[in-house]
Amino acid sequence: VSRLVLVLGDQLSEGLSALRAADKDRDIVVIAEVMEETTYVTHHPKKIALVLAAMRQFAKRLTQAGWDVRYSQLDDTQNAGSIVGELLRRSEETGASDVLVTEPGEWRLINKLKHAPIKVYILPDERFIASHQMFETWAEGRKQLRMEYFYREMRRKTGLLMEGDKPAGEKWNFDHDNRKPAPDDVAFDGPLRFEPDETVQEVLSLVAARFGEHFGTLTPFWFATTREQSLEALDHFISKALAKFGDYQDAMLSQNRFLYHAIISAYINIGLLDPLEVCERVAEAYDNGDVPINAAEGFIRQIIGWREYMRGIYFLEGPEYTGRNALGHKRDLPALFWGAKTDMRCLSKAVEQTQQEAYAHHIQRLMITGNFALLAGIDPARVHEWYLAVYMDAFEWVEAPNTVGMSQFADGGIIASKPYVSSGAYINRMSDYCKGCAYKVSQKTGEGACPFNLLYWHFLDRHRDRFKDNARMGNMYRTWDRMDGDKRETVLSEAQGFLDRLEAGETV
Ligand code: FAD
Ligand code: SF4
Repeated sequence: VSRLVLVLGDQLSEGLSALRAADKDRDIVVIAEVMEETTYVTHHPKKIALVLAAMRQFAKRLTQAGWDVRYSQLDDTQNAGSIVGELLRRSEETGASDVLVTEPGEWRLINKLKHAPIKVYILPDERFIASHQMFETWAEGRKQLRMEYFYREMRRKTGLLMEGDKPAGEKWNFDHDNRKPAPDDVAFDGPLRFEPDETVQEVLSLVAARFGEHFGTLTPFWFATTREQSLEALDHFISKALAKFGDYQDAMLSQNRFLYHAIISAYINIGLLDPLEVCERVAEAYDNGDVPINAAEGFIRQIIGWREYMRGIYFLEGPEYTGRNALGHKRDLPALFWGAKTDMRCLSKAVEQTQQEAYAHHIQRLMITGNFALLAGIDPARVHEWYLAVYMDAFEWVEAPNTVGMSQFADGGIIASKPYVSSGAYINRMSDYCKGCAYKVSQKTGEGACPFNLLYWHFLDRHRDRFKDNARMGNMYRTWDRMDGDKRETVLSEAQGFLDRLEAGETV
């Protein structure tokens, strides 16, 4: 008898384990657009459009390759509205009794499939370089799960940027070279943009009609939706931007949203690009002498290091991870995250770009929106829902550890050895946001003082017991303690005043 092969919206790879395990002559591929998956958080319309368009393109490709594909469009009248519902419907329609699926990247869906009233075989997702077993073995018995050590193991395993058993350039990590402030001008005009074809146009109409009220603008829509386009986008980045990627990785500019970033995370995450193939191309550019080591190493570390490590943590820590709240933060997410007016220019620029592009780069996510949420004591579960909704590349296995762990310190320090917090000085050094802001970054207290300057000390003060003995934070506490007592009181009461205004829904 035939089986159903379920392919999810972020599993659009021909080499997928479930497809490899299936028999093209007998088994039936099920791909389903369902309301349940498009609405469990209010995803950005661009993100929904990307996933649905790429699913339709992929289904066509599988059909051409000879598969029997049963594709359910969102507005099909028969559509059951959920993944499990669609499996049951297709099983009845075809007589197929078992389901093959590659492991979803989300506990929610894994549990639904495990408890479905049809037999589901979940196969390992082999598009990652580290298997669950490899990560567990690495983590076992370690007191701290620092990314850097995992990363070195991954370099050895893949052989990327290795000269024998030594790292290329004689150092494992060139991060020190990768913190240059924003350049005056950027010699890269951003990611490759694609004209929507007929398939994409249809999806755009559907998304506009069904999800038009979600936060985020749908058009212009220029993302790649096929593997060929994604490969073109990757080549474009490697030949035009990679050389400078390292230098300006942490910089932020209000007039340039993409700087030298790759804008390929979503393509990798939905399966259009393979992470190892991406890294091999980058290593090749280094071997050919086209890009410096700090660029190639910095980039490869993000993928075989951070990306794989985040997934390892997500699966190691289990389904409760997204609910962690080690610092006991309770505040609701302020309306400014959904585009309400704020005088804080850095936040307003980061949110505006998120709304228009469904994209912000790592330092904007970590040191602008993330930093603010952490300093202001916002409930990490609300922060997590926001990040999961608004970014085109947001899938829980990678978004949750980045948000809950790295950015909000809500896991109590599994991922980050200290909280990523800063005052306005860091933002000013790395960006041009402060010029033209209603607040003054150099001002520490009083009318017009930058809120980051106030909140930073408020955060350190209220979490003193937890962080005072952290070796990496001693300097901060010493600076605070050296401050004159009256000054400290002023800072704390002005910070509290700011938080009260935020809580009351006033424009801050
Ligand atoms: P580049 O800066 O050009 O980096 C190259 C590639 O490295 C990326 O495409 C991505 O695949 C990988 N990468 C870089 N940093 C990370 C990281 N920390 N974790 C995993 N992979 C990384 N990334 C996601 O893919 N999905 C998310 O939902 C997501 N949520 C985040 C939430 C927060 C609070 C933070 C601080 C970071 C988050 N990241 C997430 C990581 C990172 O911000 C994005 O991967 C990156 O901005 C994507 O843009 P890019 O392709 O231009 O990346
Ligand atoms: Fe942001 Fe403060 Fe700079 Fe304004 S002054 S842009 S609030 S860091």
